[in-house]
Amino acid sequence: MSTLLEVDSISVSFDGFRAINNLSLTVPDTGLRAIIGPNGAGKTTFMDVVTGKTRPDSGRVLWGDGAMNLVGLSESRIARLGLGRKFQRPTVFEAQSVAENLDMALRNPRNPFRVLFAKRTPEDRTRVEAIAEEIGLVSHLGRRAGELSHGQKQWLEIGMLLAQDPRLLLVDEPAAGMTVGEREHTTDLLGRAAKTRAVVVVEHDMEFVRRLDCRVTVLHEGRVLAEGSLDHVTSDQDVIDVYLGR
Ligand code: ADP
Repeated sequence: MSTLLEVDSISVSFDGFRAINNLSLTVPDTGLRAIIGPNGAGKTTFMDVVTGKTRPDSGRVLWGDGAMNLVGLSESRIARLGLGRKFQRPTVFEAQSVAENLDMALRNPRNPFRVLFAKRTPEDRTRVEAIAEEIGLVSHLGRRAGELSHGQKQWLEIGMLLAQDPRLLLVDEPAAGMTVGEREHTTDLLGRAAKTRAVVVVEHDMEFVRRLDCRVTVLHEGRVLAEGSLDHVTSDQDVIDVYLGR
């Protein structure tokens, strides 16, 4: 395993308020990682910096072998380098079928001309089925995405990101609003996806993070407060004080 992402001493201020304060962390190229923290800890700002939406005041975001600094690159350029971001709300094409959604993602929605004019190959079809299998929607390929449950829509969107074969998948609260069964499915799905790429889950739900069974980074006031297994960080007095509110 080698390092895929190295966030090096980033700081972000909004009108003089430090949302991210000299934050550093590294993400290996495979496996799951959870980032947790209370409201206002800086989780969204962290994701915005890594994906190029927000430019930090200082610090570097190194990618791959460390030779490339993502700071200053556009969101689309960063996405093309292999960084996929899943927002909290599912954004699938409701009027299209599950297969059509995956097919569009496979042919790259960032380039509509490619989607319109590219010929659909038998390999595309096989790949769509393989992804549907991976996300557990193979028996729903012909259904309209709008008819899926909330959880199924989330899986479809994860599948659409997987179709683009990201090296790092950044997922914001994937289990929000899900049933217990759907949460289990989501854990399995993310675990499978993390076998061949880095998956970073930003969550506040401790039970879900426990199921992920991975290294956890706790953010507070834009800094790393603790890092390690969930048991380790939840027994840390600082974490207990600020995060669990005990
Ligand atoms: P989290 O996602 O962990 O809840 P955020 O990254 O959204 O935290 O926010 C971190 C801090 O930065 C919060 O105090 C928030 O109010 C502040 N903040 C975030 N975005 C902005 C903005 N665009 N303008 C001003 N303050 C912001």
